[in-house]
Amino acid sequence: VFRNHLDFFAAAKISSSFPPPTLPEIAFAGRSNVGKSSLLNALTRQWGVVRTSDKPGLTQTINFFKLASKLCLVDLPGYGFAYAKEEVKESWEELVKEFVSTRVGLQRVCLLIDTKWGMKARDFELIELMERSKTPYQIVLTKTDMVFPIDVARRAMQIQENLKKRKSIVDPVVMVSSKSGAGIRNLRSVLAKIARF
Ligand code: GDP
Repeated sequence: VFRNHLDFFAAAKISSSFPPPTLPEIAFAGRSNVGKSSLLNALTRQWGVVRTSDKPGLTQTINFFKLASKLCLVDLPGYGFAYAKEEVKESWEELVKEFVSTRVGLQRVCLLIDTKWGMKARDFELIELMERSKTPYQIVLTKTDMVFPIDVARRAMQIQENLKKRKSIVDPVVMVSSKSGAGIRNLRSVLAKIARF
């Protein structure tokens, strides 16, 4: 399914402008700078379609991309952005929370965690929310090329241990580097199972 052309088809700033849920959806969430845009580009091999690096002042939206008529990838605005004004920050976060807890057709949330930094309070907040709304999610460790392999493995084990009592988590932790390409094929095959054929 990731061989299909990626088409941007909607952006939403408020929940009333979410497009109708016609395809199975996979959303990507994480702190700003976690490597989300780079991962979307690497997964789809379509560099530049998903804009990288959210700059302060840029409008934050939830962006919807289609892979043919098989799958919809949803790019959620990164949270915890250091320079954003407090009220702006809150409105993005409310939007992300609303999407994640109410969206019909949402099959999976990939929660991206920077391998070097691990999970932070904001990540746990989102996890609690997904647990409450029974939204299936999986953890994707990003930028694995930045740390020693032994530390990647340690981080994965630590997260696995931390989340083992949670109910809505699915699949083991996936480790990727958009830079080296490590783990990208594996993540594609994990996610391809969600697509419509
Ligand atoms: P986003 O804000 O979550 O969309 O993150 P971006 O994809 O824009 O990446 C943030 C920064 O991390 C950029 O400088 C990227 O070049 C860098 N980055 C993203 N993925 C990787 C990776 O796999 N390895 C390394 N070394 N850097 C990465």
